[in-house]
Amino acid sequence: MSTLLLEIVTPERKVYEQEVKMVSVKGEEGELGILPNHIPLVTPLRIAPVIVKKDGGGTEKFAVSGGFIEIRKDKVVILAESAELASEIDVERAEAAKRRAEERLSAKAEHVDFKRAELSLQRAINRINVNGK
Ligand code: ATP
Repeated sequence: MSTLLLEIVTPERKVYEQEVKMVSVKGEEGELGILPNHIPLVTPLRIAPVIVKKDGGGTEKFAVSGGFIEIRKDKVVILAESAELASEIDVERAEAAKRRAEERLSAKAEHVDFKRAELSLQRAINRINVNGK
């Protein structure tokens, strides 16, 4: 069975580089399940889990915060604003970020950049979910 090369990169580091069987992501226009020989495509990603079926069996899960995916015939590059492997996620930190965002979004807070707080909340919830499931 053929494989495709998956790279996950952020401005800070290369998070992952492996031959894999399948990648599933949440693009701006919905879920994408990517197998080898997928049609070429570049599309923005949502703040969501990325699930990888590994070549040797088993799965890997990442929390990805936005960015883009570039799909080529036998290579997929995810260029993310941030990305963490499930086991790397510090859940306490994500819980604290979630609480801060919720406080900012509550009617009590003043001078809030709501869009920014909403995105921060989404990142925190995504990290908590990816680590927990
Ligand atoms: P925080 O407010 O806790 O910094 P954030 O959502 O603002 O959260 P980002 O700007 O998305 O953080 O990420 C900054 C860096 O910290 C990235 O390298 C990201 O991978 C890492 N990071 C953020 N939150 C966590 C976490 N809970 N566990 C592990 N790494 C994290």
